[in-house]
This record gives sequence, C-alpha cells and structure tokens, in this order.
Amino acid sequence: MTDIKSLDFDELNTALSSLSLPSFRTKQIYSWLHEKGVESFDEMTNLSKDLRETLKAKFFIPTLIIEDKYVSKLDSTVKYLFRLYDGEYVESVVMKYKYGYTICVSSQVGCKMGCTFCASTLAGFKRNLMPSELESQIHIAQRDLGIRISHIVLMGIGEPLDNYENVIKFLKTVNDDRGLNISLRDVTLSTCGVVPKIYDLMNEGMPITLTLSLHAPNDRLRSGMMPVNNKWGVDEAIKACRAYAEKTGRRVSFEYTLINGVNDTESCARELASKLKGFICHVNLIPVNDVRERGNVRSTEKNIKNFRDILCSLGINATIRRTLGSDINASCGQLRRKKKDGDTDENCC
Ligand code: SAH
Repeated sequence: MTDIKSLDFDELNTALSSLSLPSFRTKQIYSWLHEKGVESFDEMTNLSKDLRETLKAKFFIPTLIIEDKYVSKLDSTVKYLFRLYDGEYVESVVMKYKYGYTICVSSQVGCKMGCTFCASTLAGFKRNLMPSELESQIHIAQRDLGIRISHIVLMGIGEPLDNYENVIKFLKTVNDDRGLNISLRDVTLSTCGVVPKIYDLMNEGMPITLTLSLHAPNDRLRSGMMPVNNKWGVDEAIKACRAYAEKTGRRVSFEYTLINGVNDTESCARELASKLKGFICHVNLIPVNDVRERGNVRSTEKNIKNFRDILCSLGINATIRRTLGSDINASCGQLRRKKKDGDTDENCC
C-alpha cells in the first residue's frame, strides 16, 4: 500500500491516473491531505463513498495519534508525544512567540549521531520519518490547538540531514500554496554537521535558515561530545556554513550548549570567536538540559553571561536562549525513551 500523503502533486496525479478520474479530483484529494490535513479518507466528504473505498484499497494515510500532551503552565508551550502507525513514538513542541506559532518537529525515530549530551540517541535509532509523518505533526498540532502554525524548526528527535530526501520533500510540500503554504524563510533546519548534505541543501535553492550544532570550538573537545566530528571536523563544518550563507544569502546560526567545566571556559569563548571571525552569523548559547543518564551539569549563570560577553566583545553576535516550557522540559527524545522503558509521568494531561 502506498502512503498517499507522501506523494507530491505530480506523483499523486500519476498514482490516480489508473482510476480514470477527472483532473479536479487530484486537486480535491491533495487539498484534503495537505491543506486540511485530514486523517482518514472518510473525512473527504466531497468524494463519493465508492471512490473513498477505492482509495482505501490502494492507499493509506499514516496516522499520528496524540499519546501524551504536556502544557506548560508558565508560557503555554505544548509538547506532544505522537504514536506512529507502527507503534513507534516521536515528539513535537509548539511554542508561541510574538510573531506567531512555531513547531519543533522530529525528523527520525531516534538518532544515529550519538551526541553525548542528547537524549534522542538513548532509545536507539529505528527509522526515518516519511514526508507525511513530518507534515502530520503540524496538521495534528494545529487541529488540536485550533491555531495556524507559521514557523517550523527541524530540531526535534533525529538528524534532518540524515533523512535528506524526505525532509526536502516535506519542505516543498509545506511551502506549496495548495497545502500549508508556509514560507521557507520561516523554516530553520538544525544539523549536527553532516557536511556533504549542507552543500546539497545549499544547492536546493531553498531560502531556509541553517543552524549548526557546534557546541565546541575545536576538534579535540567536539569529537568527545559529538562523534560526527570524527568524520567532518570543526573547520570543515564552519566552512560549509560560510559557503551556505554566501550562496543563499541567509544568516547561519550556531547552537552552543554550555556544559559546566567542559566547553564554557573563557578560552573556549575566545577560540570560538576566532573560528567565526568575519562571519556574519549568530551564536545561540543554551544552558544544557538535564538528561538523567547523561550527567552533564549546566554552566552557572555567571559563566554563561561571561561567555556571551566575550563573544560580543570580539564582534560575534551571541544571545542566551530564552527557555520556554521549562516546567515540561523533558529534553529532546526523553518522552520517547520513557515510553519505551514503560515509565509514566505525572505531569501528563
Ligand atoms: N540533529 C540535529 C537536530 C536535533 S537536536 C542537530 O544536532 O542539530 C536540536 C538541538 O538540541 C541541537 O543543537 C542539539 O545539540 C541540542 N541538544 C540536544 N540535547 C541537548 C541537551 N541535553 N541540552 C541542550 N541542548 C541539547
């Protein structure tokens, strides 16, 4: 059976051609799937019952069920744990900003990258998400909350550039004005540094914002935190980001998670500033989130501010990330891991 929601418009047209339908049917079905985001063929009420049955025999719409939902009492950030059609789990977070709603979506079930501070790898890598499953995270959150989501960040579970084809297809679909019609300028993709794919992305002609999870200014430190660095080192990753910024005209950001006594020293800040010299970019400083199994300790407030001040004094634009939903902050990948372990959580609504 074919996942009908992962087909683009032309593929859908081709797939429906054997049914000899008038061409307006493709438009109707595409609109149900991508503009309205229905979860079943029975919701396609302008199609005959017979046609709905024919579609059901040939295609399926992968379901995402809200397994758990956490709502922050502090700032109304919402975190979802979704159950996928094969029983796997992923997480999404919806945040409210002045300019609208942003969703942080997962791109894979688990992650292969093995970053030492991250929860996403703990429960193992299972599979890539299909384009439809990426998109349904938005549809279901919008429907559940009765809102329109205008911004997307690919910063949930998984490495988006390790699921490249599906992520690109998802982005083209959400940008389509026959679907969600989300501007690519309002999309941010975060990568741990899969360098060849940064160059591929640069050549897609998509004006999306790129973020590199850097977390350390040199190979010795970064390789100890992020195994991907053994393949593509700090200089290679920053070089790819400079090329991306130059070609796309989009500003690149760097994520830098501060861990007490590991990467938050003055010398790290100075080394980072020298690596980014002359690059019009932005550094997001993030106090590390506690992940029970990881044992990393947050930098002190004083060290975080000091780190920022050093970067700024050396001409590097840096800010400390505002924490949203801190009372529901099971960091990235933790809800899925808990579910796998059979853990429960009292905070769940
Ligand atoms: N694989 C992609 C996107 C997913 S992670 C990437 O690496 O960029 C999204 C961001 O959260 C990354 O910058 C990641 O390094 C960071 N992150 C992961 N675990 C964290 C933790 N415990 N505390 C703070 N940031 C964390």
